[in-house]
Amino acid sequence: MWKKPMDVETLLRDRDIYFIPKGNDFVIRCLNPHHEDKNPSMRVHQITGIFNCFSCEYKGNLFHHFGEKANYLQQRRILFKTKIIQKRSESVGLSFPQNSLPYIGNWRNIKPETYKKFEAFQHSGIDYIGRINFPIRDISDKIVAFQGRHTADGRPKYKFTPPGIKLPFFPVVKTIKGSIILVEGIFDMINLHDKGLTNTVCCFGTKNYSETKLALLRAQGIENINIFFDGDEAGQKAAEALTTTCEKVGLITQNIYFKNTDPGALTQPSIDKLKEKLYG
Ligand SMILES: [Zn+2]
Repeated sequence: MWKKPMDVETLLRDRDIYFIPKGNDFVIRCLNPHHEDKNPSMRVHQITGIFNCFSCEYKGNLFHHFGEKANYLQQRRILFKTKIIQKRSESVGLSFPQNSLPYIGNWRNIKPETYKKFEAFQHSGIDYIGRINFPIRDISDKIVAFQGRHTADGRPKYKFTPPGIKLPFFPVVKTIKGSIILVEGIFDMINLHDKGLTNTVCCFGTKNYSETKLALLRAQGIENINIFFDGDEAGQKAAEALTTTCEKVGLITQNIYFKNTDPGALTQPSIDKLKEKLYG
């Protein structure tokens, strides 16, 4: 029987496999039946479906694994297109997708003016639909990527366009001096900005930093980082690792910890209290 060729995302959805986009890959639970994988440790390339478990080293191709037909011609086309977009984003920057509209709502009680400040937009294209989208600008103000957050239960929750791009800390530190608050996700950052902590910067994932990136902050006049990751075990472990790297480049850190909550969920009174505690 002829089978319609599939793409990786549709295949994962059809099989009800939970996935998180990371760079060029999706991260899923290992497909090896002999590996009881509690924390997802398998990476699947978003376009080719080639997978690799970095814990047990189980390898393969998603399409073969599930007996599905892959469209290699289409894969090559998408790989090529993605490369072009990545190159453009690195050199001249991206433009807003055509016919995008400013987002004017107040989803999650974030004020419309805060959405406006971060240039939130909506668009009906496949990469943006159902999401609140933001341009991610680098130090020269060039758009290097877009990030969209699903407002319903859609998956994946966050989507980057183009995938696999290197993301700066955001927003880029230009006018802030002295002290920043570093959070993981864009909505953590936006929530704190919305409620008065406008020196908050997000790193797009607790491992998305390097000594160079941190040394650059130091060179830009930042002396002190208040690390505010999620209040769960994973978040706190990541905060510890980041502290070590910060110390290497001469940045003073302080850890902000709220048990079982994350910066994106903090209310105005809690943020007022935090502001008072940090900056008097
Ligand atoms: Zn495995």
